[in-house]
Amino acid sequence: MTNQDELRRTLFRDTRHGYDRITPEDAAAMEGYCRDYMTFLNEAKTEREAVKWTIAKAEAAGYRAWEPGMPLSAGDKVYHNNRGKSIYFAHIGSRPLSEGAHIAAAHVDSPRLDLKPNPLYEDADMAYLKTHYYGGIKKYQWTTIPLALHGVVILKDGTKVDVCIGESEDDPVLYVTDLLIHLAADQMKKTLSEGVTAEQLNLLIGSVPAEGEGSDRVKLAALQLLNAKYGITEADFQSAELCAVPAGKARFVGLDRSLICGYGHDDRVCAYAAFAPLLTQETPEFTSVCLLADKEEIGSVGVSGMKSRCFETFMEDLCQTQGASLRRCFEKSFCFSADVTNAFDPTFAETCDRRNNAVINGGVGVCKYTGSRGKSGASDASAEAMGYVRRLFEDGGVLWQTATLGRVDQGGGGTVAGFMANRNIVTVDAGVPVLSMHAPLEVVSALDCYMTKKAMAVFYLSKESHE
Ligand code: MN
Ligand code: MN
Repeated sequence: MTNQDELRRTLFRDTRHGYDRITPEDAAAMEGYCRDYMTFLNEAKTEREAVKWTIAKAEAAGYRAWEPGMPLSAGDKVYHNNRGKSIYFAHIGSRPLSEGAHIAAAHVDSPRLDLKPNPLYEDADMAYLKTHYYGGIKKYQWTTIPLALHGVVILKDGTKVDVCIGESEDDPVLYVTDLLIHLAADQMKKTLSEGVTAEQLNLLIGSVPAEGEGSDRVKLAALQLLNAKYGITEADFQSAELCAVPAGKARFVGLDRSLICGYGHDDRVCAYAAFAPLLTQETPEFTSVCLLADKEEIGSVGVSGMKSRCFETFMEDLCQTQGASLRRCFEKSFCFSADVTNAFDPTFAETCDRRNNAVINGGVGVCKYTGSRGKSGASDASAEAMGYVRRLFEDGGVLWQTATLGRVDQGGGGTVAGFMANRNIVTVDAGVPVLSMHAPLEVVSALDCYMTKKAMAVFYLSKESHE
């Protein structure tokens, strides 16, 4: 080796490709993990479905629903189901909670089209459902694709009815139309944000009229079908949470099957990475806490969002079983805000700083700060916190990379990190780089999915304490 090669090796960052650095053991475990993750993606498309799905897996692994007053000791596994829309898991560690917890906070809501409270109408002998988009979307992307309806309806007597239309092979799907190109002269002159408007995102659900005379016969026929299957009437939409999401399953992408496209990688790819290690890990030193939050896409507000005091209530309960103070527990805890970041896309290279953006197959992306413009709204992690992350991942064999959210002044975004840090918990953003984030189908790499899971696994078992 020449002197200069030696200098390069010792002084430069290691920027070798992820596939040149991954160990044979990790490479072998990667595909199985990703197939399990794809099952989760396919079976849990909404926050409610994710809560149900994870409870079933957790109970099979020994987790029990937390009841206030329940005695807890090291190795115990509990969860708190926050109204069926967000969930907290805790694996009690051998050290007391007064020494802090290791917390991974992800979210299980994704951008979609929610139904309005009075959605159903008939126009031009076709039946439609009015929607109100949820989260940040490019509206035109949600037209002309197969959509499925997921959610719950609460009947007047309080009965909860689960709805899912469009996911099984012989189910029909719902559809938002777009204007034919032949007549789109005016539409094509509009900007991408104006070309399809929010009030044009109407779901086509039928075209056959009910038998007999009178108005709104197609709407009536649609209600007859809904009533026959679910026992619901038009007024029941007023006490419902129904949403349209892309129908169908996640698929491998690329001739080498190295990538995965699916609906809602943001943020179920990190939610699954944060959850999966809890099913198999040994008793940790520090209590492992996994938070799967709702409402991140609209600001983490409300009882099921990460700003909710429900989290304090759960953690305070756990602390009380040990006579520990919640404030001291938070002060000594460490949190990964496990959320996706943007992957460098060479087709849109000008939107990113290439030297600082996360790349596909670079491993878990660690974001020191998010925010926009002059770091506005960012939870800017300290050098000390980043130092811990480096030690943790490099000692734990986790392939990781730094990440920033695009070119400065190009846009920006945030995660639950700031809300966790405001609780006096040292917090760093880390997650999977995503191509086409918030599109109906997003793309991630298998290697990055696996490394994010490995990152969370070594974090839960880490023995280093925090101040
Ligand atoms: Mn997210
Ligand atoms: Mn998002």
